[in-house]
Amino acid sequence: MKNTFLPFSKPSISETDIEAVAEVLRSGWITTGIKCTEFEQNICEYTGSRHAIALSSATAGMHLALHALGIGPGDEVITPSMTWVSTINLITACGAKPVFADIDRDSLMITADTIAPLVSKQTRLIIPVHYAGAAVELEPIQRLAQEKDIMLIEDAAHAMGTEYQNKRIGVDGTAIFSFHPIKNMTTGEGGMFCTDDQSLADRIRRLKFHGLGVDAYDRQSHGRAPQAEVQEPGFKYNLPDMNAVLGICQLQRLHEFNEHRAALAQLYIEQLASIEQIIPLKQPESTTRHAWHLFIIRLDIDSAGMSRDTFMSELKSKGIGTGLHFRAVHMQKYYREHLQSKYELANTEWNSERICSLPLFPDMRDEDITRVVDAIKSVLRRTTK
Ligand SMILES: *Cc1c(COP(=O)(O)O)cnc(C)c1O
Repeated sequence: MKNTFLPFSKPSISETDIEAVAEVLRSGWITTGIKCTEFEQNICEYTGSRHAIALSSATAGMHLALHALGIGPGDEVITPSMTWVSTINLITACGAKPVFADIDRDSLMITADTIAPLVSKQTRLIIPVHYAGAAVELEPIQRLAQEKDIMLIEDAAHAMGTEYQNKRIGVDGTAIFSFHPIKNMTTGEGGMFCTDDQSLADRIRRLKFHGLGVDAYDRQSHGRAPQAEVQEPGFKYNLPDMNAVLGICQLQRLHEFNEHRAALAQLYIEQLASIEQIIPLKQPESTTRHAWHLFIIRLDIDSAGMSRDTFMSELKSKGIGTGLHFRAVHMQKYYREHLQSKYELANTEWNSERICSLPLFPDMRDEDITRVVDAIKSVLRRTTK
């Protein structure tokens, strides 16, 4: 066992999960239906959100949000460059301009202070990211958005179970969660659009299924109401029941998953503390519960005498998988060549060269943490003589 490859992430799928999915497969109704509705209700109960709309991905949710808010040419959207590429791709594909706020060097999150100077007459929307399972410092950003009459959508892809000032992410405002297999709970692929805005919820629900004004599933007709007519041009982003039922099961285990993630993260923190080439992240105080989606370290590339990419491939050769969350988007090929403005984002760029995500998933054992830390020590020992 000792020499098997330790992946950076792996979903925790139980026999109960498998049986529940099999039951849907046998039921005669596998796409969006009652399981999806049940999943949405369970999420509302969990987060405290007024509305939850299940979608085929978080990216789908972001697309529908931008579309519903009418974001297009001439509009600016403030977001970090240190995020998953989907947000920037969608803003760009909508014809709007992404405007990058720099991040706090040690939390990897944008702040009201880095956002404020970028607000212009064209600014329509701010999309902060709750990073790695910690909460973004939301209140000052909410205040800024309100003052300037700008909309705010939280990218909560990492934040299922995160609490900000003792409240779950999603309870107020609008937040989009992801259930991609690496996230804290999974539906295979999937996302959840949570909002307390009734008219936005109605709009998202309509847009997610061709703009028909009905869900993919209608209780009366046991399928889609065949007479439904297009109310507005929409998309096809519904979540099938075979995925939703997995979400129902995973949500029941989320607390247990997150508790184990937190315990593993604590072991990492203790065991890495003595390695001086490893720079830890700072845990924001207003995060009253950390979902520990990722365990991110920064490599001090000067004292380590190697690049982060070399560090990652050395670990790989020792059977340890790692991840990179994220490569700053403004430094990637298309955006290097096509951005309308030039950006100097000191903290984003500094971190983009140094961050690395270590293995962290609920089925890991304590020994796996020691194995990762030993591998790190041995990689670093070789260069620091
Ligand atoms: C995973 C992720 C997304 C996209 O989620 P999908 O469900 O894969 O579309 C968006 N933003 C962040 C920060 C993510 O990590």
